[in-house]
Amino acid sequence: MALRKLVAGNWKMHGLSSDLVEVRAIAAASHAYPQVDLALCVPAILIERAARAAPGFAIGGQDVHHADKGAHTGGTSALMLLDAGASLTIVGHSERRDAHRESDDEVKAKAEAALSCGLNVILCVGESLEVRGRGGAVDTVGAQLAGSLPASLDGEAELAVAYEPIWAIGTGKIPTTAEIGEMHASIRASLGSRYGADGAQVRILYGGSVKPSNAGEIFAITDVDGALVGGASLKAADFIPIVEAAAAVEGRGFIA
Ligand code: PEP
Repeated sequence: MALRKLVAGNWKMHGLSSDLVEVRAIAAASHAYPQVDLALCVPAILIERAARAAPGFAIGGQDVHHADKGAHTGGTSALMLLDAGASLTIVGHSERRDAHRESDDEVKAKAEAALSCGLNVILCVGESLEVRGRGGAVDTVGAQLAGSLPASLDGEAELAVAYEPIWAIGTGKIPTTAEIGEMHASIRASLGSRYGADGAQVRILYGGSVKPSNAGEIFAITDVDGALVGGASLKAADFIPIVEAAAAVEGRGFIA
């Protein structure tokens, strides 16, 4: 059975007070698409202002520390994100796994810390171009999941997994629909092995160069339960057509 779609924006290190107009515009437009869940993950320092600008709209962080408090200069805990008005956070984005050398163990600890505080989590996985080229994408992502998925899904907070091939992020290149379908099916199987029947309820998002022009085709693939969108989430004029594409696919048939 198809899951309700989630379209989440990742603003990365973009966003000033002057950009809150985009948050407001996206939140206002979201009322036209009640069949789709939406969220914007903004820089930690913008969360409180974004949450105030768009009451009731899901605002998220882009990373979280695994500890609840302590001597972690520059760190932001899950409770701090919640306190600022966030309802979700990304963990394990490839830019953090790469630039901040975050291991699967660390990503798992972050996901567990966030979920245990009631913060929804989007956990990212994805392969490099070199790995894709030598045919190791499915195994690599499987290993990332084995190492970074939280041990259980006991609490109220929701886990989603985002498949983000690193070579597709910000490049305009995307895998074929067959490659996305193969990977999402494999992720679904990993979720089933880890969580049993509950694994079928975990949404699997695709991320990497999602645009208004390709969103409809991507959302129609089996087990693509939404998208994590970087560049095209910065402006309502780009993001809303992607949401519209998700809404249009709801209730339609799926392609393999
Ligand atoms: C991302 O950074 O998570 C992402 C998917 O970026 P983009 O949509 O710009 O490729």
